[in-house]
Amino acid sequence: MTIQTHILGYPRIGVKRELKFAEEAYWRGENSQDEFLEKAYAVEAANWQSQVNAGLSFLTVGDFVFYDSILAHTVRLGAIPKRFNEASKLNQIDQQFYLARGRAPDCTDVAALEMTKWFDTNYHYLVPELDPAQIFNADFSDLFRQIERAKKYNKPLKVVVPGLLTFLYLSRVVDDKKTTDAPNLKKHTCECSTHYTDANTNIATIKFIDALIPVYSKLFDDLAAYGIEYVQIDEPILVLDLAPEWQSAFERVYNLLQRRDSLKLIVTTYFETLAANLNLAVNLPVAGLHIDITREKSGDFFWKKVIDQLPTHKILSLGVINGRSVWASDLVKLDEIVKTAQKSLGERLWLSTGCSLLHVPVDLKSETIPDEIDGKLAFARQKLDELVALASGYIYINEKITRAADKAFDLVGQSRLENFASRFKAQHAKLNLPLIPTTTIGSFPQTAEIRAARAAWNKGNLSDADYETAMKQEIAYTIKEQENLGLDVLVHGEAERTDMVEYFAGLLDGFWLSKFGWVQSYGSRCVRPPIIVGDITRPKAMTVKWIQYANTLTDKIVKGMLTGPVTILNWSFPPAHRTRREVCLQLAEAIRQEVSDLQDAGIEIIQIDEAAFREGLPLRRTDRAKYWDWAVKSFKHCSSSANIETQIHTHMCYSDFKDCLPEIIAMDADVITIETSRSGLQLLEVFHQQSYPNAIGPGVYDIHSPRTPDAEDMRIVIDGALKSIPAERLWINPDCGLKTRNWVETKAALTELVKMAKQVRKELETT
Ligand code: GLN
Ligand code: ZN
Repeated sequence: MTIQTHILGYPRIGVKRELKFAEEAYWRGENSQDEFLEKAYAVEAANWQSQVNAGLSFLTVGDFVFYDSILAHTVRLGAIPKRFNEASKLNQIDQQFYLARGRAPDCTDVAALEMTKWFDTNYHYLVPELDPAQIFNADFSDLFRQIERAKKYNKPLKVVVPGLLTFLYLSRVVDDKKTTDAPNLKKHTCECSTHYTDANTNIATIKFIDALIPVYSKLFDDLAAYGIEYVQIDEPILVLDLAPEWQSAFERVYNLLQRRDSLKLIVTTYFETLAANLNLAVNLPVAGLHIDITREKSGDFFWKKVIDQLPTHKILSLGVINGRSVWASDLVKLDEIVKTAQKSLGERLWLSTGCSLLHVPVDLKSETIPDEIDGKLAFARQKLDELVALASGYIYINEKITRAADKAFDLVGQSRLENFASRFKAQHAKLNLPLIPTTTIGSFPQTAEIRAARAAWNKGNLSDADYETAMKQEIAYTIKEQENLGLDVLVHGEAERTDMVEYFAGLLDGFWLSKFGWVQSYGSRCVRPPIIVGDITRPKAMTVKWIQYANTLTDKIVKGMLTGPVTILNWSFPPAHRTRREVCLQLAEAIRQEVSDLQDAGIEIIQIDEAAFREGLPLRRTDRAKYWDWAVKSFKHCSSSANIETQIHTHMCYSDFKDCLPEIIAMDADVITIETSRSGLQLLEVFHQQSYPNAIGPGVYDIHSPRTPDAEDMRIVIDGALKSIPAERLWINPDCGLKTRNWVETKAALTELVKMAKQVRKELETT
């Protein structure tokens, strides 16, 4: 009896990020489209070749796209928003880039599509915008050409198509004519991801079902004509808490789409179990179902329920290999699952990865792996071998893989002893700051000189002492400039940090930094998340030297800068068996020690950044309380070593706290700085309505834009904020770190900011 194997998708960036470099060269005009395509197709070919070499039963086609799958599908469906009317001049390749970047050859710059987090991953998709009267002039010829290219491998093909309902669920209705509905025009491009959009509970896009049914039907007919037998139709929204309207839409849509015998649809779900949608999913009139068993809570055996309820003619594709983890699978354990499933399903059992392998690095091959984790890791390429081993039954026993620890790590978790009111009073007396003090979020421009010095140091061409001198010069310059600008609370500027998470991961024990472990974050942007490999401890102080040095250069207050535990965790790969809670608590203890050391070194204000505080939020509501519980506990633990007079700040890159303000309040930071310049002031009202008790620094301008902020725009934010927050508890700052800007832009922007703050301060003091 054979078990069919396939994957839901493969990383598209290439082993050496070839696609990224090809795209960026093309955007800069250094390469023609043909030159770009040649490089892109080489990655596509390498991806298929890996699947062939590993011995998978099917080649997956359609997962390889240039920027984002939802974007490619949007363009193929012809759902191009009106403001991109010049897109008609472009072919589909440039159309995708135009929608994603707001820029294309010979076209007027317009606001790009917004992007947002893809379920609970750190990948971002482009949010389709559908006009109220949207018609779909679909053109899938690009996909058909891809199928033609794949046919050369002489393997059975399986084509991936975004599900009709998932596509609509992730879209939104935007009437370009009405300015109130206009999308967020400014695009967020720093590492702090886009502002978070919660699972879309709105049902406005359901009305497009009827327009899409004929489009999908035609697509399926065409695919059948191309000789395709199986389609992986991705409907991951089936793992969410779905409104009844969406649930009944599933029945209707798949009843309308079934019909043809020649083409078999595998409805594909991932990132969670089907939970309440189990019955719905197993009974859809399709050929098969894919489920992700890697996210099941241990001992749940949800997959057994699926097998029990699945009609006996249907294929079940079991996602057994974790597509979100960098760790090798326990094949012996999985083999038991496979054997059990096979007993019930026989030939109807397929094996796969839980989700697309897009979320893990491509290949371990070029890494130098330290002994303690040698043999324990598996990136995308290695996971293909695991899959084939499981299906063939030739499983190898990997003695090295990590198994669950016997004892979980726990921490009582401490809090600050004094309440905010008494801390506020003590800090006010000690810090002697003016009304509405001005500050920044931490980083200042990462100049070419800084990057060159770091590169030379990493290569061994610059000694430790010379590197330190170079960084200190940058710090001194940054301090001087802030003094000239007249800011009230200064920062050292983070010159020594490549990235707010990687920097700490490099200094804490328990992390491994890979060299080539890149993962796509959005478009051509890739991140290289540190890998947590063991217990996290802090061998020595990580930031004190730099911040203390900055502090000696000025009479003004210098704010110390740390990254919080939740953010470090959410932007790293977690260990094999530890719970996220345990890891977060260990990180919190390390940061708590750093807070203590900074304080001992005379630092009076310490910011603990939690840019990704809500990024790890579980997809389903019932799981969320637990997450908030340990996330808040971890943050509070970090700040618990601060004395009453030490002021703790935190920073978040968004301001949409509608559904989690109680948790933000519970963090009890003395000051929170947030993004408000892009997402609008109405969000601050949430703070007002729920009486946010502590101090706030709303971002008064958008650092993502190179232009100098308009004084009047800043004034609008400040005036708006003053309606919700008393002046005594208000700070003035940009909306994020300045590292992506240059010095000219930075000085111009901060000059305006300080000027405006002084003007408002004067008015407040005289009234
Ligand atoms: N302190 C960090 C910086 O200024 C915060 C970055 C972030 O929020 N993403 O760069
Ligand atoms: Zn930020």
